[in-house]
Amino acid sequence: MTPPREKKLGGYRAKRDLDATPEPSVGGRSEGAGEGRFVVQEHHARSLHWDLRLERDGVLVSWAVPKGIPLDSKHNHLAVHVEDHPLEYLDFHGEIPAGNYGAGIVKIWDRGTYEAEKFRADEVIVRLHGERVSGRYALFRTDRRGRSQGGDGENWMIHRMDPPQDPEREPMPEQLEPMLAHRGELPAEADGWAFEVKWDGVRALAFVEAGRARMCGRRGVVLTGRYPEMRALGPALGSREAILDGELAAFDGAGRPSFQLLQRRMHLDSPSVVRRVATQIPVVYVIFDLLYLDGRLLLDSPYSERRAALEQLGLAGGAWTIPARNVGDGAALLAATREQGLEGVVAKQLDSRYLPGRRSRAWVKVKNAQRETLVIGGWLAGEGTRSGRLGALAVGRPEDGELRYVGRVGTGFDESELRRLGELLAPLERAGSPFAGRGGPKGAHWVTPSLRAEVEYTERTSSGLLRHPIYRGLHES
Ligand code: MN
Repeated sequence: MTPPREKKLGGYRAKRDLDATPEPSVGGRSEGAGEGRFVVQEHHARSLHWDLRLERDGVLVSWAVPKGIPLDSKHNHLAVHVEDHPLEYLDFHGEIPAGNYGAGIVKIWDRGTYEAEKFRADEVIVRLHGERVSGRYALFRTDRRGRSQGGDGENWMIHRMDPPQDPEREPMPEQLEPMLAHRGELPAEADGWAFEVKWDGVRALAFVEAGRARMCGRRGVVLTGRYPEMRALGPALGSREAILDGELAAFDGAGRPSFQLLQRRMHLDSPSVVRRVATQIPVVYVIFDLLYLDGRLLLDSPYSERRAALEQLGLAGGAWTIPARNVGDGAALLAATREQGLEGVVAKQLDSRYLPGRRSRAWVKVKNAQRETLVIGGWLAGEGTRSGRLGALAVGRPEDGELRYVGRVGTGFDESELRRLGELLAPLERAGSPFAGRGGPKGAHWVTPSLRAEVEYTERTSSGLLRHPIYRGLHES
């Protein structure tokens, strides 16, 4: 017994204001429309999902699949059985205006025909013949509560019964360690190298699949909650699967990456605090490599090919950027970064493979300034507006079991960093100098030497003091 089509589409009509949405209205029975067409729509609603619709008895039996059609049999995906849609929906794509049910962009992701092996109220087995997907799929109901319990639909699962359509498909690795650069000089011969700006931030890999992005730092630390603006990478890549490599950076008013600004986000965990600080200090993901794409691991592909594939992804806009790379002229790029006050450049061999977790000579970081992690042994009060408060740090280098004073660092701070350092140093105050031979500047407030600072400088004087030291942040970890 098949209920009449008009009645089956009552749920569809009830949810929509058909005068306000471009979605099809419920017209008369479509004559001559044979059974067996299907469509999968990619629906960028409040939450990205894919809608699978199978033509059956004059309507489209429909499921919303949050992670899309599974491409292998290892992972079943949730498929929420929703209201039947009219046949006209087979061709629907466009924008459902804000304020309407399902507001957002609808794209046709795949379409074609299918044969049903089984079509029951709680289990459906079909063979799809789409432009993108072909193969045998089972849909089965997993819970009976569904709509009667206030949910929006019944929970089903979709399972691929055939082997992967692409026999060479490689599963996405769950974890990878980023490749590291060796510190050095510009290569003598620029041929065969590309040069990128070195960004001063936090290294992160983005694992993107099924419209969801997971950000991972080194040793697999998950960073997604700390940098929620990166979640939008999922919908930006749609159903594409990718592992991206890059640096999360916060930019100051002059457009330079500021590690100090980023530090104010690096230790936040409370979601509400993260959201608030993210509006004050937005983070940009500077993407420079592509390690996996749509079932292919690219680690053994040369850097030049990985970069070309990255650039073809069309990832523009949003909280991420793919910066230019410069082939052939590293010296000019290094000079430009020096003028702009940037950290330096990374030279990468065009034919080099990606070596996860390895520090390789195929990647060479060339820095404009020397940078060193130094121990804070005291502080000096400032002058003018900083009078009575922290104005400079007295720093030293551990040598032969002693702390050797190397200079005072009085620039590179902003007001909030000065305040933060003042609060961290206050409880460490002690009577005498911690430096070897009771060295250090006159009039300093001494502290127990436990905090370390990242300090940049141009060179050392003959007596071992730093020239032009600049504070670049507290050393974490
Ligand atoms: Mn939908």
